[in-house]
Amino acid sequence: MLSWDEDVAAPAPVTPQTIAGVEPETTAEQISHRVNADDKRIINGKTDVNQLVPFKYKWAWDKYLAGCANHWMPQEVNMQRDIELWKNPNGLSEDERRLVKRNLGFFVTADSLAANNIVLGTYRHITAPECRQYLLRQAFEEAIHTHAYQYIVESLGLDEQEIFNAYNEVKSIRDKDQFLIPFIDTLTDPAFTTGTIENDQKLLKSLIVFACLMEGLFFYVGFTQILALGRQNKMTGAAEQYQYILRDESMHCNFGIDLINTIKLENPQLWTPAFRDEITALFQQAVELEYAYAEDTMPRGVLGLNATMFKGYLRFIANRRAVQIGLEPLFDQDENPFPWMSEMIDLKKERNFFETRVTEYQTGGALSWD
Ligand code: FE
Repeated sequence: MLSWDEDVAAPAPVTPQTIAGVEPETTAEQISHRVNADDKRIINGKTDVNQLVPFKYKWAWDKYLAGCANHWMPQEVNMQRDIELWKNPNGLSEDERRLVKRNLGFFVTADSLAANNIVLGTYRHITAPECRQYLLRQAFEEAIHTHAYQYIVESLGLDEQEIFNAYNEVKSIRDKDQFLIPFIDTLTDPAFTTGTIENDQKLLKSLIVFACLMEGLFFYVGFTQILALGRQNKMTGAAEQYQYILRDESMHCNFGIDLINTIKLENPQLWTPAFRDEITALFQQAVELEYAYAEDTMPRGVLGLNATMFKGYLRFIANRRAVQIGLEPLFDQDENPFPWMSEMIDLKKERNFFETRVTEYQTGGALSWD
């Protein structure tokens, strides 16, 4: 033990912390602020949210690292072929042009809603720093996605105001967003706090709507459409960006599902039969809304796709999401009508699919050099 008063014969008294290389004594009071991993909780935790380690939720940290490894920027993707195709009067059919515009009309504001939901809502209510760390990465990815859609709109010379205001003007898009907004409003309400069963259930419900129905279902008609164009060698620059976005979004969805399941484990009292019924009804409603959007964007069938095929696909995805959070499957639909979409999600398996560039795109720090 050091005895400061006797050993330091300095003219002016100094506090222990100001002497480099010398450990001050740590008080019991200070030690009491150290975090034990076992005490951490996803919601309503009492531990210091600034102490990332020791880790308890290693899965969240791993997803943060994976998200960083997948970093990409829209302007790195060449849009020249898309621009030429779009400007060529015979390049695309009227139905294909409608599809592209309605598709962007949903997505240009969707990731902004997602970002606001995270930054102004979810983040405040999550008390596990590993999960907050992932949410920070996710928030930036939502910004990159909004940037990507803006970059496509700008490259093609579309009417920016028409596309960015589509969520007010186009019914099938507006209906999807109006379904989501009450759940976003719950989390972003400054007066909303967790800590009662009622409010914890509200939080859990919003997390489920966001991960399973917004990022996990409402994005999938749109992703499939643009990736189907890419498979026909059309709009390959846009399709390449959508592929990166799909990779990010499938991780957002998986993170959300892990978050939901961990909250359920830590708070089993929230998962009541009435609550489960309510969630199941929301799933049904979301499938209807997304199907209406599919019909509206493809009124006559286009690219070998039609709305009916999407009915099967949406039922397939909804079942998968339901099972992932511990609900019964909702529909009798075991088969995926678009099996190629699952290959798209696992980007690392794809070799230069659109022949534009290597799609096995990870940042330098994550590459292995052996
Ligand atoms: Fe997302």
